[in-house]
Amino acid sequence: MSVPGERQRHASLGSVGSTAAEEWLAATPIAELHGVGSRMAARLARLGIHTVQDALFHLPSRYQDRTRVQPIGSLRTGDEVVIVGEITHTRLRYGRRRSLLSTVRDGTGSITLRFFHFSAAQQAGLETGRRIRCYGEARRGTSSLEMVHPEYRLMEPGETPVLDSTLTPVYPTTEGLHQLRLRRITDQALELLDRQPPAELLPEPLLETLGLPTLLDALRVVHRPPPETSSRELAVGTHPAQQRLAFEELLAHHLSLRMLRSRVQSHSAPALRSGGHLRQRLLDSLPFRLTGAQHRVGEEVGADLEKPCPMQRLIQGDVGSGKTVVAALAALQAIEAGYQVAVMAPTELLAEQHLRTFSQWFEPLAVPVLWLSGRLGLRQRRMQLARISEVGASLVVGTHALFQQEVAFARLALVIIDEQHRFGVHQRLALRDKGQRDGNHPHQLIMTATPIPRTLTMTVYADLDTSVIDQLPLGREPVETVVVPDSRREEVIERLRTACAAGRQAYWVCTLIDESEALQAQAASETAARLRETLPEQVVGLVHGRMKPGEKEATMDAFKSGSINLLVATTVVEVGVDVPRASLMVIENAERLGLAQLHQLRGRVGRGVDKSSCLLMYHGPLTKQARARLAVLRDSNDGFAIAQRDLELRGPGEVLGTRQTGMLQFRIADLSRDRSLFPAVEKVAGALLAHHRQRLMPLVNRWIGNGLNYETV
Ligand code: ADP
Ligand code: MG
Repeated sequence: MSVPGERQRHASLGSVGSTAAEEWLAATPIAELHGVGSRMAARLARLGIHTVQDALFHLPSRYQDRTRVQPIGSLRTGDEVVIVGEITHTRLRYGRRRSLLSTVRDGTGSITLRFFHFSAAQQAGLETGRRIRCYGEARRGTSSLEMVHPEYRLMEPGETPVLDSTLTPVYPTTEGLHQLRLRRITDQALELLDRQPPAELLPEPLLETLGLPTLLDALRVVHRPPPETSSRELAVGTHPAQQRLAFEELLAHHLSLRMLRSRVQSHSAPALRSGGHLRQRLLDSLPFRLTGAQHRVGEEVGADLEKPCPMQRLIQGDVGSGKTVVAALAALQAIEAGYQVAVMAPTELLAEQHLRTFSQWFEPLAVPVLWLSGRLGLRQRRMQLARISEVGASLVVGTHALFQQEVAFARLALVIIDEQHRFGVHQRLALRDKGQRDGNHPHQLIMTATPIPRTLTMTVYADLDTSVIDQLPLGREPVETVVVPDSRREEVIERLRTACAAGRQAYWVCTLIDESEALQAQAASETAARLRETLPEQVVGLVHGRMKPGEKEATMDAFKSGSINLLVATTVVEVGVDVPRASLMVIENAERLGLAQLHQLRGRVGRGVDKSSCLLMYHGPLTKQARARLAVLRDSNDGFAIAQRDLELRGPGEVLGTRQTGMLQFRIADLSRDRSLFPAVEKVAGALLAHHRQRLMPLVNRWIGNGLNYETV
C-alpha cells in the first residue's frame, strides 16, 4: 500500500500551483501511482481511468464479505462467504467430467469443495485432517452444499484465519486487469484523497435534509465499506453513501444536458419564414384532417423554426399518432424558405418507407426527394452526394449514412430524426455539428414513439424542448389484445386462416431477443416455410434484417399493395412501419420482450379503420411477473401508462431501447430506483446554474469526463 514519494507529489502539486485539491486529483495522471506502468495505464484507460480522480469515481459493482468466518451449518444457497474447517475426506470422482471432491467440516456442518481443474500437488495438499480457509459461493450440490473452485488457503496448525477489515469491493474491469490490482490502485487513490480532500460541490443544507454524507465519507464507504455496513443496502444500492453518489451523478448528467442546451441556444440558425404555401398545398392533398394535437404541435414547431436560434425539439407521440405529417409540414417550411432538409431513420426499412411517403407527398409539389443509404452502389452514391451538395431546396432521406464525413449539404437548415431512441446521445450531438455553415446551425426535430416518463426526460433529454401529440386520429379503435400459450398454436393459425380468407392482412413476428441477426433471420425463414405449408392458400412474405434492401422493399411494397396477405417478420418491423390495412398481428415468444417494445410492435396494427387484434403468444410456463407484464399490455393501449410500468418492471434501458448508448450506463445511479431523488436534482441544478457556475464543470468532469463533448457544439 504505497503512495507516490513526497518529492514526486510536491512536484505535481507545484505544477498545478494553488488550485483546489479537487483539480489536483483530476490533474494527476494515474501513472503516477505505484505499480502503474504504461501497460497498466493503457488497460486502465480502457475503463476510462486516466487520472487519480477517475480511479476514485470508478465504483464497485458489488461486494464480497471476507470480514468474518461463517459457520458451515448456517449457509444457504447463494451465500458468498468465508468458511474455515477441517478436511475429512478427499477423493476423485469420475462422472461426465472428472472432478476432485473434498469434504470440509467445522462442527456446525459440512460442505463439499469441487474442482474440475487441479494439479497433482493440489490434490495431495488437500489431505485429510488439514485445516483450510475457503471463500466461495455455496451452491446446491448432489447431496450437500458445494463450493465450486473456491479461493482457498491451507492453514498451519494453530494459525488464526486472516480476515479483511472491510468488505471487498468488486470493480467493473477489463481483460488483463485483476481485482487485486484495481484494489491496490484505489487504496492509493483513497490515501491521496484523505490528504487532499476534494471540494464538496453539493450545498450542505441539502445533504442535511436528505440525510446524505459528504463526498469524502461517501467515497470512503463505497470503496471500503466497514464490516458493519448493511450488505443488503449495499447490494441494492440504497446505502446513504451510494445514494449520495447517485444524486451527484444524476445531477451531473442533468447539468451537462442543461449546459448543452444553453450553449446551443447561443448559436444562430436560419430563421425559416415562409408564406406557408407548400404547407397548405400538402394539407389540401391529404385524405384526412389533422388532429387537434397534430395541429398544435405543428404550430409549436413552426414558431421555433422562425427563430434565429437552433430549434431542439422532441416530439413524443404514441404509435400511430401521426408524427410523420407534422415532420413533413416542418420540412416544407424550410424548403419554401429555400433550404434543405434531412430526414434520418434508424433502419433501412423505415428510411425506405419515409422515402416512399415523402415522395408521394412532395412530388406533386415539385419538391425533389433524394435518397442516401449506406447500401447504395458507389456510382449512385457519388451522384447523390453531388446532388446534395448543390444548392437547391430538397429533402434528403436516409439512414445514419447521411451523417458521414463526406456528405456535404449545400444549405441544410433542418434535421429530422425519427425514432430517436434508436440513436445515442452522441449521435445526436454529432448531428448538431453537421450542417453547420458560416456559423449557422441547423434546426433539429426529433421524434419518438416511446412515451418517456418524466424522470427519464430529465436525464436523457433535458437539452430538448418537448411537444406531445396526445391524441390519435379519429376513428381509431384500440387494438384488442389476447394472451395465448404457444400450445394453442394450431388455434392461432386457424384464426389467421379465417382472417386472411376474409381479406384481412396480418403480421407474424418472430422474436429472438439478443440473438444475432443471422439467427433471427433463420427463425423467421423457418416460420415462414411452415406457415406456407399450413396455409397454402395464402401468400406468405418474409422480411428480416439480412435481406438485400431491394428485396425488403419489394416485399414491403407487396404487403402494402395487398398482394402478400401474411408477412412473417423479425422485429425489424418494430418501429415506424406503416401498412394501415394490416389488422392482425401474432407475436411469438412475447414474454421475452419489454413492454415498450411490444407496444411498438403492436402499433403496426390498428392504424386503419378495421378493428384490429394482437395475439401475444408465449412459451409457458410464465413466471408471475411475466404474467403481470403481459396483462399490462392486454389491459392498456396507452403508451405512457405502459412505459411507466415498464420502467418500474425492467428499468430505463428497456424503455428507451438504448442498451447500446453510453448515456444510460450510469456508474451508480439507477433511474428507476432513484426516482425519488429527481425533484431535488432538478432544484439543485437550477441553484448551481444560477449561483455557482464555477462548480458546474468540476461536477460534470467527475462523472462524465470527456464522455460528452461540449466543446463541439
Ligand atoms: P407515427 O406517429 O406512428 O409515426 P404515422 O405518421 O406513421 O404515425 O401515421 C400513422 C398513419 O396514420 C399513417 O397512415 C398516416 O397517414 C395516418 N394519419 C396521420 N394523421 C392522421 C389523421 N389526422 N387522420 C387520419 N389518419 C392520419
Ligand atoms: Mg413513425
